[in-house]
Amino acid sequence: MSSNLVIYNTLSRKKEIFEPINPPMVGLYVCGPTVYSDVHLGNCRTFVSFDLIYRYLLYLGYKVRYVRNITDAGHLEGDRDEGDDKFAKKAKLEQLEPMEIVQKYTIGFHDVLRLFNTLPPSIEPTATGHIAEQIEMVKQIINNGYAYEVNGTVYFDVEKYSKSNDYTILTNRQLEDMLNNTRELGGQDEKRGRLDFALWIKAKPEHIMRWPSPWGIGFPGWHIECSAMSNKYLGHQFDIHGGGMDLAATHHTNEIAQSQACNHTNPAKYWMHTNMLTVNGARMSKSAGNGFLPRELFTGDHPLLNRGYSPMSVRFFMLQAHYRSTLDFSNDALEASDKGYRRLMNAIALLPKLKPSATSEVDLEEIKQRCIMAMNDDFNSPVLIAELFEVVRIINSVYDNKTKIDAKGLNELQTLINDFVFNILGLKDEHIENNGDLEKLMEFIIKLRQEAKAAKDYATSDLIRNGLQEMGFQLKDSKEGTIWSKS
Ligand SMILES: [Zn+2]
Repeated sequence: MSSNLVIYNTLSRKKEIFEPINPPMVGLYVCGPTVYSDVHLGNCRTFVSFDLIYRYLLYLGYKVRYVRNITDAGHLEGDRDEGDDKFAKKAKLEQLEPMEIVQKYTIGFHDVLRLFNTLPPSIEPTATGHIAEQIEMVKQIINNGYAYEVNGTVYFDVEKYSKSNDYTILTNRQLEDMLNNTRELGGQDEKRGRLDFALWIKAKPEHIMRWPSPWGIGFPGWHIECSAMSNKYLGHQFDIHGGGMDLAATHHTNEIAQSQACNHTNPAKYWMHTNMLTVNGARMSKSAGNGFLPRELFTGDHPLLNRGYSPMSVRFFMLQAHYRSTLDFSNDALEASDKGYRRLMNAIALLPKLKPSATSEVDLEEIKQRCIMAMNDDFNSPVLIAELFEVVRIINSVYDNKTKIDAKGLNELQTLINDFVFNILGLKDEHIENNGDLEKLMEFIIKLRQEAKAAKDYATSDLIRNGLQEMGFQLKDSKEGTIWSKS
């Protein structure tokens, strides 16, 4: 099968035609969360972006195996094997077992992603469930001559690797610069080179998460887990490897080195990275006090937020920016997105009420092609959404009897909405989901108002309309009847 999908590949720093290794199969690996604290919004943006990518690949007819791991061991505080284990530290702080920490935040992570309506991955492997595979990979890297053991810890030999490979291939940095930006080794250091990183780490006596290995009791390094799990479920080389752009410089650079040293190949053909979040123009970070959690964004319980925004309205907001652009959170931008999302959903709610004409003035095939073109251009969701607002205009115009559409056109319109709004953008109408009873109640109130009007009791009918308006409900009258919406 062929498509005209073009993907920006971090590896080549340009857009490339997407040609899967074994079509129609597509292997997609995305670095998952480290489950030692609440998932932050930046991560959610990454997972919503890859959800869009996954959904569009499915729409194109690919059979996608989407693997997204859970990091539940081995992630130290410093990227370069420094500091405490994140799980052990948090466990001590909360007086829990490390696995209780893992369980608590894995459930929290799944809950948040469910609210964002992301599809679950095909496989969600955990690092602790794949210790044997990681040990095997480390053994192979040692056998191939690219790693060495010192006192129970195994290091990857970056200097030796760099002699025959380009260690900085992903980010195109100079090795010299990287060396200059890394601290000099001191007498305490075991590793030979400044850029060397740990594949396997000797466990201190107090370290709870520990496993036996050929090098003694220890635990795996963070980078090796993704290499071992992607290799196990997607093979030596697969199609797309993704994650947040903050992972490119160290984590993904080391993943490539490990796979090259073990399997003599770059693990992925296309490397995709999502951009960062900013708040009122400044980078979002906990330490700057401008980082809010998904829950705080939904409830509005944060000093920087005027009010809460629903998960679908936030998803819509995220998709209104391209995944490679920064996404700036501000009350104005969230407010505008919320209005846009509701305008889209209100128009879709009109669809079943549209009446077919004998002729049609709407060319849906052309609109569909423009939607596909937008998504084929490196998953350009903001352009797709702009096209969908053209569809909103058409729906409203047909509803107001200003544009004609035939029965076939109405069917195509419904399919277009199902495909692009629900299946690809992954949106759903929260209004209908949350307001089943409200729908019935509003129908009843509308009927009361109609009876008042029929009895020429305009005082009552105005009272109802104005009262609803004060609560944010708008009524729209037409020949076909009255519909309502909420702002
Ligand atoms: Zn990873």
